[in-house]
Amino acid sequence: MKEKVGVCIDCGNTVFCLAGFLNGVVLKEGRLRCFDCDREAEKKDESR
Ligand SMILES: [Zn+2]
Repeated sequence: MKEKVGVCIDCGNTVFCLAGFLNGVVLKEGRLRCFDCDREAEKKDESR
């Protein structure tokens, strides 16, 4: 089962839900980000 959940807000890649496992991260605003971009964002966000 591969279900399209949405689109990454950073790179525009489609984020899928694979067998109940989301290949991305849901942000507070209800937006989606793929794992690659989320990892990059965490690196850049040094304020936390
Ligand atoms: Zn992305």
